[in-house]
Amino acid sequence: MIQSYKKNPQLQNAYDTIVIGSGMGGLATAAILSKQGQKVLVLERHYTAGGFTHVFKRKDYEWDVGIHYVGEVQREKGILKKLFDYVTNGELKWADMGAVYDRIIIGDEHFDFMKGVENFKEKLISYFPEEEQAIHQYVDLVFKAVRTSKNYYISKAISPFLESIFGGILKKPFYKFSDKTTDEVLGSLTSNKKLIKVLTGQYGDYGLPPKQSSFSMHASVVRHYFDGGSFPIGGSSQIVKTIDPVIEASGGSILTKAEVAEVIINNNKAIGVKMIDGKSIYAKSIVSNAGINTTYNQLLPFEIVKKHQLKKQLQKVKPSVAHVSLYIGLEGSPEELNIPKTNYWVYPKEGDHDSNVKNYLDDLNQDFPLVYLSFPSAKDPDWSNRYPGKSTVDIITLIPYEIFDTWSDSKWMKRGEEYESIKKNIAKRLLKVLYKQLPQLEGKINCYELSTPLTTKHFVNYNNGEVYGLDHSPSRFRQPFLKPRTKIKNFYLTGQDIVTAGVGGALFSGVLTAMAITGKNILKKL
Ligand SMILES: Cc1cc2nc3c(=O)[nH]c(=O)nc-3n(C[C@H](O)[C@H](O)[C@H](O)COP(=O)(O)OP(=O)(O)OC[C@H]3O[C@@H](n4cnc5c(N)ncnc54)[C@H](O)[C@@H]3O)c2cc1C
Repeated sequence: MIQSYKKNPQLQNAYDTIVIGSGMGGLATAAILSKQGQKVLVLERHYTAGGFTHVFKRKDYEWDVGIHYVGEVQREKGILKKLFDYVTNGELKWADMGAVYDRIIIGDEHFDFMKGVENFKEKLISYFPEEEQAIHQYVDLVFKAVRTSKNYYISKAISPFLESIFGGILKKPFYKFSDKTTDEVLGSLTSNKKLIKVLTGQYGDYGLPPKQSSFSMHASVVRHYFDGGSFPIGGSSQIVKTIDPVIEASGGSILTKAEVAEVIINNNKAIGVKMIDGKSIYAKSIVSNAGINTTYNQLLPFEIVKKHQLKKQLQKVKPSVAHVSLYIGLEGSPEELNIPKTNYWVYPKEGDHDSNVKNYLDDLNQDFPLVYLSFPSAKDPDWSNRYPGKSTVDIITLIPYEIFDTWSDSKWMKRGEEYESIKKNIAKRLLKVLYKQLPQLEGKINCYELSTPLTTKHFVNYNNGEVYGLDHSPSRFRQPFLKPRTKIKNFYLTGQDIVTAGVGGALFSGVLTAMAITGKNILKKL
């Protein structure tokens, strides 16, 4: 059972591995190591476990923070489904979102992304018949780019010796795609600006518009959803609930309200962690799932950071953009309110994604460059058993952290009138977008709450309120330090920063970290 550190749980004398942070990467690392017989302690600073997969509750409602849909879990033989089954002992179940997983809305037009790659292509060709060839070429390139990624990621987990021999060969084909921006690749296939705007209509899934994002990241997201989207039955909290027994079966635990202050390092070897109350806990290996920026800026001793020039590494990567999320509670079931399962991506009619982002960053009163509408209660078949007669909607848009920085030292829920008034204004604008798409929801809202980048900082400890850890630019994929092993013996990284954002990316990071720690080829086993 997940316990609170503050309630003085029984700690063991020693652990094989301590994982700092209970995000998807940390949980996956812990579950896989537990299955190898290790006793693992997961320490989570928040009052609830799961990182971005956590849910929060208010009277009559519950909202999922960082899961709206996950791909590839419909394919029984697919690696992601197998991995989820492995870390949860097959206990986590998924509900399919149906034929249309994403709807790209540009002005008054809409374009549906259909489940099944042939349906996807056919539908797109029906919107852009003159672009048939470009659409076929595009899908082929997406598959080609994704095929090169397996070896690239494996190269992150193999021993430094093998890496020095095979690393170059394993990574080279991937760089052919990751070095290019999404816009460069799409621009080489078509000059149809509207088609490019539609094909990149999921850029919110990785946070960077086409001229800045790496094509490999774009391709991995697009491919990820070709088989449709799914939602965890019972909500995202089922992830940690189904992984916890796997960790406990080997004598390990997940503790919440357990904030790590520092990693204890002796002779360049990690040996334990110091908690914020001063207590030390020891283990043979220490893994940080707290994100590379938080890890290097907050968790490693100053002398170690200096000795290995780790700040120089951080200068080579940029934190991703931040976001606001409007969590809405409605009166009426999803069926009564006719709420869809499909995600809506709403974009301004004019301009390409990059110029719309730029205009908005220059003047935040301009149209939002992207508004994402997601309908979790409609996606979860178990929702109405838990919350009968109610529904939820989440609305997300991107926002720079800087506009909220003034309040960074204030307390959650007590940040003052000006902050509340900015939030009110953003919420009003987002609701307008919702009512345009689903007018039947006007008058049905019981409550709403807007999270800001400071909320992300407060609860998930991302200092700049980053929505996705590090930016997914071409140069990110060239950084050799974004991998499990670090310059400190027995100290490892895991989580979205060493693979990519997304629950699938973070899950896979756990596999790589467990492989680096044990030296075993866990993927082969699966
Ligand atoms: C709004 C939003 C929507 C998203 N939607 C989707 C989606 O639909 N599909 C999808 O696949 N992905 C989605 N994602 C991305 C996905 O949720 C993340 O990429 C993934 O969950 C990150 O996992 P992680 O392992 O990197 O850990 P994180 O979730 O980042 O967790 C890190 C954990 O470390 C803890 N921690 C930090 N410092 C300390 C410390 N000192 N001591 C102890 N604990 C500490 C934090 O509290 C946190 O719990 C979304 C993300 C966001 C923010």
